[in-house]
Amino acid sequence: MNRPKIVILGAGYGGIMTAVRLQKDLKVDEADVVLVNKHNYHYQTTWLHENAAGTLHHDKTRIPIADCISKSKTTFVQDTVVKVVPDEKRVILANGELTYDYLVVGLGFESETFGIKGLKEHAFSISSINAARMIREHIEYQFAVYNNEKERRDERLTLIVGGAGFTGIEFVGELANRVPQLCKEYDIPREKVRIINVEAAPTALPGFDPELVEYAMNLLESKGVEFKIGTMIKECTPEGIVVEKDEKVEEIKASTVVWAAGVRGSDIVDESGFETMRGRVKVRKDMRDPNRDEVFIVGDCALIINEETNRPYPPTAQIAIQQASTVSHNLTSLIRGKQELETFTPDLKGTVASLGEGEAIGVIFGNKKIFGRTASMMKKVIDNRYLMMLGGIPMVLKKGKLKMF
Ligand code: FAD
Ligand code: NAD
Repeated sequence: MNRPKIVILGAGYGGIMTAVRLQKDLKVDEADVVLVNKHNYHYQTTWLHENAAGTLHHDKTRIPIADCISKSKTTFVQDTVVKVVPDEKRVILANGELTYDYLVVGLGFESETFGIKGLKEHAFSISSINAARMIREHIEYQFAVYNNEKERRDERLTLIVGGAGFTGIEFVGELANRVPQLCKEYDIPREKVRIINVEAAPTALPGFDPELVEYAMNLLESKGVEFKIGTMIKECTPEGIVVEKDEKVEEIKASTVVWAAGVRGSDIVDESGFETMRGRVKVRKDMRDPNRDEVFIVGDCALIINEETNRPYPPTAQIAIQQASTVSHNLTSLIRGKQELETFTPDLKGTVASLGEGEAIGVIFGNKKIFGRTASMMKKVIDNRYLMMLGGIPMVLKKGKLKMF
């Protein structure tokens, strides 16, 4: 009898952890497992803001897929998914196609631009290693050019970050540390450089603990970050952005605009005919697509509702990693002919956001607030714990953040 074939799309937190779990859960010869990813490496999306600012090299963030999975248990296909044809149990790739008995969709997120004019064309987004590397190079180039122009253009040194959610705040935290290094390297006075964080809501980090938000803003302001709160980005142009506050419209000139104001699920999920809300499939309790028993969705492509608040859980790596265990467990059950599947229940351990090396804020164990060095250390512990799950001690030693203080 042919072995059932499981195809996993995407090697982000959800996809790679599903593959790693399946290697443990399934016995040899119970199924053929195929993992498909654009690149031959997995990357830690949660560190991309550091790569984009230039405070951490991207080689620390990416991990060869060969170091995460066992060749004898999982077949890796490096290719780009173009579309899924769920009615035919088929996946179209840029260079071929695959059929499946079971599918796991873990294609991650895309930047959500809400149709705002010019963002797609003129703004960067922190969405992959390639994107982060481009942002880092672009910023450095602006500093390099500045002193070579006859007429110096200060907007070259204006860095705008759209959105003061966790991504925006973590990114300006890194920029605030990187800018003094760039100033020194390119002989530019620090006061010439502006880092502007624009947030539409009445506060940065809307919904987060106000005391910790204040801590973060004070710290970042002390390092020269300007906040424009209650200010909506209306347009992005080749020259900068147009914002609106209290019905007053203003243009801010800047050579660098990074849009960090929201995410949605992969376009491929939409384009493949799954029922979605902003690229995310409202999955059943067992992580399956509502209309297809053989399709699981994991990570940022999956939408699950928090029944206490009746709102979707935020798309996070923490949840994607936990979902992978349920997906692997349920796939194993199905393959063994069991119809009773496990329900996914997030076990939220807290939220910790970095504010640059040595600084962070967070809420852990339900309501314990942490900040400063303690929070920064906790963030590194969380990151290292993930690497431990992915590849044990050797992976922690190779890719971990081991300098705690
Ligand atoms: P991803 O990690 O995005 O992985 C998707 C994978 O699919 C990638 O490997 C990609 O290359 C691949 N892929 C995409 N399209 C294709 C295609 N067409 N063909 C083949 N392969 C494809 N969450 C936290 O819990 N804690 C944090 O501290 C945190 N920090 C963050 C910091 C930043 C800067 C950002 C942007 C997000 C952060 N998040 C954090 C959110 C978290 O990163 C996401 O929720 C998480 O990455 C989702 O995991 P995923 O597996 O769904 O997708
Ligand atoms: P987000 O949706 O959490 O925040 C986006 C912010 O942009 C919001 O505050 C929103 O009000 C603002 N915004 C939207 N439109 C705007 C406009 N036109 N002008 C100005 N501001 C605008 O998105 P994110 O920060 O990219 O986070 C994405 C996901 O990743 C979330 O689930 C988040 O929790 C997670 N994440 C977690 C961490 C962490 O745990 N340390 C770090 C980064 C991201």
